[in-house]
Amino acid sequence: MGVIKLLIVVLLVWVGFFVFKKLRKAPSDVAQKPSVNKMVACCVCETHIPESEAISHNGKIYCSKEHLE
Ligand SMILES: [Zn+2]
Repeated sequence: MGVIKLLIVVLLVWVGFFVFKKLRKAPSDVAQKPSVNKMVACCVCETHIPESEAISHNGKIYCSKEHLE
């Protein structure tokens, strides 16, 4: 029975190590998100929208086609 007990302990340490590694990695992933999805402000209404959804025209940023006109 001693060998089985040892295997269980090794398995628990191994699982615990991966859980610990995953928990430590998570905060850095969250911290990196804002830089990837940069927020920009509309020059008409000053609404903050993701850069990917913004409309850029003549060096100015607009939130929608309505504000572009
Ligand atoms: Zn706007």
